[in-house]
Amino acid sequence: MLLGRALTIAGSDSGGGAGIQADLKTFQELHAYGMSAITAVTAQNTLGVQGVYPMSVEAVVQQIDAVGQDIGVDALKTGMLFSAEIIEAVADRIQHYGWRNVVVDPVMIAKGGAALLQTAAIQALKEYLIPLAWVITPNIPEAEALTGIKIGSMDQRKEACKRLIDLGAHHVIVKGGHEEGSTKVVDLLYDGEAFTEVETLRIETRHTHGTGCTFAAAITAELAKGKDLSDALSVAKEFIQAAISHPLGIGAGHGPTNHWA
Ligand code: PLP
Repeated sequence: MLLGRALTIAGSDSGGGAGIQADLKTFQELHAYGMSAITAVTAQNTLGVQGVYPMSVEAVVQQIDAVGQDIGVDALKTGMLFSAEIIEAVADRIQHYGWRNVVVDPVMIAKGGAALLQTAAIQALKEYLIPLAWVITPNIPEAEALTGIKIGSMDQRKEACKRLIDLGAHHVIVKGGHEEGSTKVVDLLYDGEAFTEVETLRIETRHTHGTGCTFAAAITAELAKGKDLSDALSVAKEFIQAAISHPLGIGAGHGPTNHWA
């Protein structure tokens, strides 16, 4: 077993289903060494987000530097970044350390509708962070917000992928989970040259809280251990499929995925 050092730069979910908590649980299950830099604290459970408390830019930078100057990072992921100021500071630190295995999960809005990224910060994501991404993992609404393309077909999804590569990302995975009316979920991977469609059966469940975070964290863990992106994607698909298939059944609302599955 190769121990990879994996850092998550993201928000805390007190309910343990998404954010930093989902990331660290995923790192642990996949035998990567998990570390965190918290960008915001949310008061949250399966019923929704009750409060959002961003950290100062200094606090975020200090956490990243504490890790970067001592332990080292083989791969990192970003999740909820909340503001343009935090995004700029995170991008600056990634460049400073020369980290290349960077997974950008462009978290914007929680399933219940709470804003996890200020609208004005979308431009900062495009300008500062996406150019540093080894892979960016938007769902369809996030891909639409980043590119301005309304995605109703696979061709439009491919167009959105191209725009994200034009912004500087090395690879793009536009996830298909938000596409309705199909028995399949098709994720689309683009490396700037070729498209790969990865298809799985859709699992009908409302217990999908934290799926996006968990998926990106699984990719990060595998990259940290030295896998290439296509192998990392296979592991992440399998991990998330199992996590959704066996819900824990806790909480009265949208329950978390099951990281033990
Ligand atoms: N809360 C935090 C801190 C997150 O990082 C995320 C990630 O996307 C969410 C909530 C969203 O969770 P959900 O899967 O319910 O949309």
